[in-house]
Amino acid sequence: MVLKRVGIAVLLTAALSAPLAAQQDSQSMIAAIKAEGLRSTEATNVFHTLTDVIGPRLTGSPAHVEAARWAMERLKAWGLDKARLEPFPFGPGWSLEKLTVEMTAPRYMPLIGYAEAWSPATSGVLTGEPVYIGDSTAADIDRLGPRLRGAIVLMHRPQTEFLRSDRPEPSEGTGPVQTGSPPLPGPSSATPTFSMLSRLRALGAGVALSPGAMEHGTVRVQGSPNTPRDAVPTMILAAEHYNMLVRMAQAGASPRLRIEVGTRFYENDLNSYNVLAEIPGTDPRLRDEVVLIGAHLDSWHTATGATDNADGATAVMEAMRILMVVHARPRRTIRVALWGGEEEGLLGASAYVNQHLRDAAPRSKIAVYLNDDPGTGPTYGFYMQNNEPAKRIFDAWLAPLRDIGARRNVIEGIGATDHLAFDQAGIPAFTVIKDFRNYDTRTRHTNADLADAVSPEDLRQAAVFMAVMAWQAAMREEPIPRRTR
Ligand SMILES: [Zn+2]
Repeated sequence: MVLKRVGIAVLLTAALSAPLAAQQDSQSMIAAIKAEGLRSTEATNVFHTLTDVIGPRLTGSPAHVEAARWAMERLKAWGLDKARLEPFPFGPGWSLEKLTVEMTAPRYMPLIGYAEAWSPATSGVLTGEPVYIGDSTAADIDRLGPRLRGAIVLMHRPQTEFLRSDRPEPSEGTGPVQTGSPPLPGPSSATPTFSMLSRLRALGAGVALSPGAMEHGTVRVQGSPNTPRDAVPTMILAAEHYNMLVRMAQAGASPRLRIEVGTRFYENDLNSYNVLAEIPGTDPRLRDEVVLIGAHLDSWHTATGATDNADGATAVMEAMRILMVVHARPRRTIRVALWGGEEEGLLGASAYVNQHLRDAAPRSKIAVYLNDDPGTGPTYGFYMQNNEPAKRIFDAWLAPLRDIGARRNVIEGIGATDHLAFDQAGIPAFTVIKDFRNYDTRTRHTNADLADAVSPEDLRQAAVFMAVMAWQAAMREEPIPRRTR
């Protein structure tokens, strides 16, 4: 009886004081996170190193490995636990070592163009009048035969459709939003591209040029690690330059080009790497549960991968640094991941799920995954992947972030980034909402994805936002609801 009375008294006291205490603690922690994050210049330093110093971080390239090692060392230096690289199978690496593309007659003009990633090198410097095959049938191309040996080939018709507007801003308004990237108009030709490429390879063409689908000298360039080593070298030209060459060729103006592509392949290590580190949880009951935050560290190769995705990688790294500086003692473990291979198909995040979360028991220990990738600028909220109960919780968590720009969470999901690997494994997994202004039309996967597109204030805001959300998720008594499917 005595025991019972004491029990009731303790329970009553706990019921009255614990939520208040937790709330106060949470308020002061959020204030501390903001104070540290909004004044520190560390985010700018991280971002500058990733973009300007290390440069583009194509998965498999030495620069990506350098970035991963550098990030791991930073996380270690900030005092995080278990900072490590986790390998996953990828394939050969590639880097661009040299590229010139010039018109030398009837007048001189340097052109804007880039080799696709994993394109073979040209065999030295190629010069000559380009051969236009955009309107040629497969039989026409075969008939050209020896004329194509070593030739510079214009594969497609002039580009007339362009990606001219960014997707709608999901953070604006209150209604439903359409998520996902606007389609990129493909290049057009009489013969399908894959069929042209196999013929050009058989006929020994020197290099194959295609137009981009963006304007104003902006070129979106990707590539595939599965490109055969004896494939025809391929290059994407700024649409305006490409179109000019086709018009000149068709008008009999006989443009002459000089092109050289130098590349290097890396086959010593066919792995790529994810970077991981953590702040251990302190609650004996919850510390084996993990709040995972992450962003992909890799990028495409023609600029420095600033908006895609050095800003996201910076935000999650800086969020962890801030949590360390404010001496956060989260109930759950907070782990950070910097994925590799996102651009080639969410490979790093998928490898992590396969390596660690194949079984239901470890899957149930990932409380939530928070991802920072598409868009740029400040963070406004999260795409909630049709998880209404989780959205209600996240909505409440936005309140103390209103003063730094939080707008809303949207119920809709988004695809094409790393949270999908976790979402598909049944783990609550959400990506931040950011701005798309000049993202789709200008910086995403392009030669314009450079550091100037990102402001230091936005980097700080995004880091604070992520730190606060990770903290909230790590402190919550109950789990984050999983979507019923
Ligand atoms: Zn991307």
